[in-house]
Amino acid sequence: MDGLMQNWSMTLDRMLDHAARWHGEREIVSRSADGIVDRTTYAQLHGRAKQASNALIAAGIRPGDRVATLGWNSARHLEIWYGAIGIGAVLHTLNPRLFPEQIVYIINHASDRIILADPACADLLGEILPQCPSVEQVIFLGDEDWIAPHSTECAWGGFDENTAAGLCYTSGTTGNPKGILYSHRSNYLHAMMTLQADALALSARDTVLLCVPMYHANAWGVVYSAPMVGAKLVLPGQRMDGASIHELIETEGVTYSSAVPTVWQMLLTHLKETGGKLTTLQRVTVGGAACPESLIRALHDDHGVDVVQGWGMTETSPLATVSVSTPQIAALSFDEQVPYKLKQGRLLCNLDLKITDDAGQRLPHDGKTFGRLMIKGPTIAAAYFGGEGGDVLDEEGFFDTGDVSTIDTAGYMQITDRAKDVIKSGGEWISSMDVENIAVGHPKAELCAVIGVAHPKWDERPVLLVMLKPGEVAEKQEFLDFLQGKIARWWTPDDVVFVDEIPLGATGKIDKKLIRQRMAGYVLPDASAPNR
Ligand code: ADP
Repeated sequence: MDGLMQNWSMTLDRMLDHAARWHGEREIVSRSADGIVDRTTYAQLHGRAKQASNALIAAGIRPGDRVATLGWNSARHLEIWYGAIGIGAVLHTLNPRLFPEQIVYIINHASDRIILADPACADLLGEILPQCPSVEQVIFLGDEDWIAPHSTECAWGGFDENTAAGLCYTSGTTGNPKGILYSHRSNYLHAMMTLQADALALSARDTVLLCVPMYHANAWGVVYSAPMVGAKLVLPGQRMDGASIHELIETEGVTYSSAVPTVWQMLLTHLKETGGKLTTLQRVTVGGAACPESLIRALHDDHGVDVVQGWGMTETSPLATVSVSTPQIAALSFDEQVPYKLKQGRLLCNLDLKITDDAGQRLPHDGKTFGRLMIKGPTIAAAYFGGEGGDVLDEEGFFDTGDVSTIDTAGYMQITDRAKDVIKSGGEWISSMDVENIAVGHPKAELCAVIGVAHPKWDERPVLLVMLKPGEVAEKQEFLDFLQGKIARWWTPDDVVFVDEIPLGATGKIDKKLIRQRMAGYVLPDASAPNR
């Protein structure tokens, strides 16, 4: 027997309809690369997005066509976003920080018909377009001649909620980029899941600084969840240095923000140098890479900001677990809570999670046994665009995340490492992630990375790369002493290498692939006697 409730297709255009109608005066603040601040509202953006829909229709875009964007976080980007998905086109976010050849690969793979680009990307476009035959038109974001003549009325939605809404490629840290094709329903559900009090907990009273790029898995869903609750949005554009971020937080009264750890590291370095304070910021979500303890403590102790760690991947929409306290953990002192904040957290409702051995057998949730992290649910990819990678689900329908993790008795998942970054030494595993996150707590360290280097006897041994804070000098031994007692003795790196730069990938995470390439000719100091 069917229920007798109304059929309400969960299409994403409803998010902006709702914001315009019920939070119409709430502001969206954008800053361009030259520092100019532009203010609009949800109601105004709604009208502009409808104009964008009409402009896209006039340009020949039909449902299912891929509409690419190439740009930073801005209201102009957001209006095209809703303009495209409202008429059933597929919004394909391109990441301008990728190498040109990767962008070419992705555009061709997606068969994008039109690109809406930030004017700052003009040179990049000039380089890539001759190699992208599917692209018929390029329009610069903010081109008034293209958008302004059109009506602010346009019919949105009216299609099935399983219709594709967005296409986002993984940044390719593990090979060729692969496309994840979100549906209206999957992003709608994801936004509702992330809004829970025990997740991102956004509300109408929040002012959200969106440091996570819109091209990084829909800015962790905030392009949908912020309009849904009518939060004020602050879009920082291209300038993501500590000073620029700090200024925006203070002038706009930001209460909540989300970003990868390296963004927070840069902000904290800036605050230390200038004696600056965070007077309005209440909480931040740190995700995309493991959060160092030093970051959690500095934000809490020096600025009164609560850090919640989130884990996920492009394939999981992305948010799947959050390190929010259970009542037992909330009752502990802050110091006792920190070990739980360092874990990637507990599963959002609507998903299922397991850890398995290589034969696919489930492993216990004892906080010690680690295995492949597998996930299932309506916000998890079932396949890659174009059938890339073939069948990606196991017999029970779980997706293999490529992460290795434990799950403890309180239900907290903790990533040990990415399967490809784990260092295999003498038949046992060393978590490169753990070592680098402890090392970066050294007061002289700006960024640290640990990689495995081939060793004749032990297969691999860890090497620590350190980028010091500006003006600092240090001896290798200082870092080895700092690690002593904090990690198992045999995890101690065989060498410490000081580098001028730790390269960051296209989503702001430490780029281990590039580090491994750069270290290709490196030989361990004494390959016969590891520090075990
Ligand atoms: P890419 O694989 O191209 O870097 P994603 O942004 O989808 O793109 O990365 C997802 C991966 O990032 C996860 O599989 C995991 O390894 C890592 N990750 C995400 N969040 C965390 C976190 N809180 N702690 C540790 N690793 C994380």
